[in-house]
Parts: sequence; C-alpha cells; structure tokens
Amino acid sequence: MTAPPTVVVCAGCDGMTFRFDPCRCTHYGDRFLADGDRPSSGGQPAYRDCELCRGVGRIATPCHECRRSGRRRAELVLTVANLDTGAVASHRLTPGRLDPRRDRALGWVVDLPARVRDLAAAVGVAVTGPDPLPLVLPRAWSPDLPADRRHALEARALADQDRVPWRVLLGRCTEPEPVDPAARLVELCSLADLLLLEVTVSFARAGCALHRHDDDEVRLVARAGDLPTLLTALHLT
Ligand SMILES: [Zn+2]
Ligand SMILES: [Zn+2]
Repeated sequence: MTAPPTVVVCAGCDGMTFRFDPCRCTHYGDRFLADGDRPSSGGQPAYRDCELCRGVGRIATPCHECRRSGRRRAELVLTVANLDTGAVASHRLTPGRLDPRRDRALGWVVDLPARVRDLAAAVGVAVTGPDPLPLVLPRAWSPDLPADRRHALEARALADQDRVPWRVLLGRCTEPEPVDPAARLVELCSLADLLLLEVTVSFARAGCALHRHDDDEVRLVARAGDLPTLLTALHLT
C-alpha cells in the first residue's frame, strides 16, 4: 500500500492559487454614490461601472490559505530540543500515522501534548509550560471509514496547521528559577525598543519552561494572576 500524500490540493481555491470573492461594490448595490452609507452584508447587485470588477460583482483574489501555491502541506513536525545537552527529538505527523483518540468534548483528536511530553522525556527536558493544543480532526472522521477517506480528512486537519508546520520547543534539564514577571517585562520592553520588535504577553496556567520564538516579537509567558503586577510595572494602572 502506498503512503498517503503529504501535499494536498488547497481546498480554499481548488488548487487555482486564487479564488473569486464578491466585489466590495456588492455591499451597496448598483449605485455611484455610496459614501457614508452603512454597507449591507453583501449580495446586492454589482455597480455596473465598478472599476474593480467591471460590473461582474466578483473579483479574483489571491488565496491566502495556501499562500498562492494551490497546494498545502499535510504534515506537522514537532521537535523538542534540550538547550543544556543539545539533544533533539522530533516526531513527524502525517496522514495515516496520527493514532487519534476520542475526546468527549472535541471528538477525535491527535494528542499533541502527549507527543511533546514523550519527546521531552526522550531528550531529558523538564516540561512545565503550556502544551500545544490537541489537533482536532474533522467531525466526519471515524475509525470505521475506508482508509482513503480517513487519510483525506487527516490531511485536511494537518493542512490547516501548515502556517507553522514545524514547531520547535526548547527546554532545559531542570525547571528554570522563577522569574519576577514585572522586572522581566520591563527588560523585554527595553530590548524590543532597541530591536524594533513587538512585545507579546500571553498567559498560561503555570510558568513556562518552553518558549516559542517568532521573528518579529519577543514574548513573555506569565500567569493570569501576574496581570496586576505587569500593569503596575508598565504604569498602566
Ligand atoms: Zn465591483
Ligand atoms: Zn489556496
């Protein structure tokens, strides 16, 4: 049996790289002067002299779901790296290799937090931070479906994750010393000013040993209870 494909046609544009969306003029109807009007929710006749759609009412727009490639990647790689030892472990999720489990609230899910914990244990990382969310499979997924259908649904769920297809989580052998969130925030704000980056504060139930790094931001993960302290530190109270 051949392995299920890990690249699939984009469902948002049927592989065309663009799609036809209603033109803005269909919010106002066939009228020249619409300035100041409250727009309708669409579905009005197109403005016949519209320079965008030439009176057709629809315009071609690039598909952002596939970033104009017409295809999406149906795989997800989880990597955990130990910053103290350099040990790295990865897990590649592809259709047919997801081993979903039933969740009472969400339906069939792929337990990504459990995969991260396994990887962390394999490289000796103490993980106390927020785990990735479980990957929820489409409602139509069932273990009783034919394999082709199951794999297609799994591919769709994986493709929906393809904006960050490789998640790298960093950790250390022991839990880090607790940090003063207010002092850390002030420090990060100074750093962000120098580097022209944004500061993002996200809240988790527990402190965090794993940090995600994006290109255009510095991030502080704090506990919800730290909010008043953080606001005070920024003189926002
Ligand atoms: Zn138009
Ligand atoms: Zn597309």
